[in-house]
Amino acid sequence: MRIGELIKKSEKPFYSLEFFPPKEKEKWNEFYAVVEKLKAINPLFVSVTCGAGGSGQENTVEIASAMKNTLGLECMAHCTCVRSDKAKMDEYLGQLRQANIENILALRGDKPKNADGIVDESLMSHDYKYAADLVRYVRENHKDFGVAVAAYPAPHPESVSFASDRKYLIEKIKTGADFAITQLFFDSREYISLVDELKKEGIKDCPIIPGILPIQSLASIKHTLSLCGANIQGKFFMQLEKAHEEGGSEKVRELGLQYAANQIRTMLDYGAKGIHLYTLNKADLCLQLVDMI
Ligand code: FAD
Repeated sequence: MRIGELIKKSEKPFYSLEFFPPKEKEKWNEFYAVVEKLKAINPLFVSVTCGAGGSGQENTVEIASAMKNTLGLECMAHCTCVRSDKAKMDEYLGQLRQANIENILALRGDKPKNADGIVDESLMSHDYKYAADLVRYVRENHKDFGVAVAAYPAPHPESVSFASDRKYLIEKIKTGADFAITQLFFDSREYISLVDELKKEGIKDCPIIPGILPIQSLASIKHTLSLCGANIQGKFFMQLEKAHEEGGSEKVRELGLQYAANQIRTMLDYGAKGIHLYTLNKADLCLQLVDMI
């Protein structure tokens, strides 16, 4: 079923959960055990990343298929344009269709870099320059799929300005997205201002689902921020550093959980239809967090 429809029908706030496919197949059983544990949250849907951290599309199809057909979870597969073209996209979408996956998150993907860390434009897709091009393509050629897109409460790192990032997001949504999921953020005002601006521009029926990350450790949050370009308020970061000095990762997790719980309450009070949790393939923190709400 299209997740956009599920969201419309959902009478109470929901959780959705994001996972990445572990690269090593010998870790998959352990991974599925984590997903099984998180079924206790009763997520409206789960999503499986693609290409991030070097994981290939094949793993996304196989894991998404198991989530849907073995574990019985509605599943959305992430789908990136980089290193792809129309023929490869048709093949990927065909594999997803065969696996009974009916929803995709249409993304451009991060620009690939060469060994010297320089962006290699030759690896960008010649058929899809931006995610909106992929949304348009899927809407015209693979009409059976539900389509979601990414949104950025703080602008995407490549944006030339705040205004342009919002403008292109609006274009992307109008091209045919059922809903959007945000990049992780720590300053809730960024999400509220994004949604307020979208409403002013007439985007009222496209749910913008906030993406929340429960912090695992100081090292992991530094790593995640360096990868995704999201920002963190200096004051909160200093509190995390202090917690780390006083009680290591355990204290950091406690503070992170309190913080994420407050963010979730703020988002739901503001009217978010649901919360997308970046699980980082870990069950316990997400279970604790949902218990706190
Ligand atoms: P776009 O919407 O195309 O935007 C990219 C940049 O181009 C932005 O700065 C935008 O403002 C600008 N732009 C858009 N349209 C135009 C235009 N017409 N003219 C000029 N500029 C324009 N990455 C992965 O590799 N795998 C994943 O599974 C994955 N999952 C993600 C899940 C979520 C919820 C989010 C928020 C991100 C995810 N990412 C993933 C990261 C994402 O691929 C990167 O952030 C990527 O750099 C941008 O993708 P996008 O779809 O947002 O791009």
